Amino acid sequence: MSKIILASSNKGKLKEINQLLSGAELDVVSQSEFNITDADETGLTFVENAIIKARHASAHAKLPAIADDSGLEVDALNGAPGIYSARYAGEGTTDQKNLEKLLQELKDVPEEQRTARFQCLMVYMRHENDPTPLICQGTWEGRILFEPKGTNGFGYDPVFYVPTHDCSSAELEPDLKNSLSHRGQALTKLVRLLKQ
Ligand code: IMP
Repeated sequence: MSKIILASSNKGKLKEINQLLSGAELDVVSQSEFNITDADETGLTFVENAIIKARHASAHAKLPAIADDSGLEVDALNGAPGIYSARYAGEGTTDQKNLEKLLQELKDVPEEQRTARFQCLMVYMRHENDPTPLICQGTWEGRILFEPKGTNGFGYDPVFYVPTHDCSSAELEPDLKNSLSHRGQALTKLVRLLKQ
């Protein structure tokens, strides 16, 4: 079994990756097992931030690393909140405050102009100086609702309308969301490359 470090302490992400990798002779372990703290996300794009996180984890663990960076892009806001999705309402804010700020910014924007998408960039670095990381992107198209709906998920899920299922992403069962989402798509692509 070859070990790969995941540059995240999120248990849900770790479980999902290992499920998709089953049978691939690869064992993904969380950076928290190595007492590695989160890297500063100083990049200006999702891909830069994902590489920063993977390089940081790989440098400390001396192992190949996987990292992802994701967020919401709203067309009427020129792509905001984008890489700032987690801190849209300020540093140390909550999902609820971010979501309220988004609804406020979009209060006068009509339904047909509320198009948006979740983006996820997932990278794999063989070592900290890898000059050609594997880079996979997942995109999930939708629209921003006028008010929150549903209680599953996290972040902007309650205001993200999924046209293919006529509900918000917080109304989807977790397994269904994982199979449709930006993260699920990026991960599936990366696992396919790793299995090769
Ligand atoms: P991360 O890079 O996966 O930590 O995501 C950054 C931020 O983007 C999160 O804090 C959320 O605000 C938002 N986000 C990313 N993925 C999702 C999702 O699947 N649902 C809702 N919000 C998300």
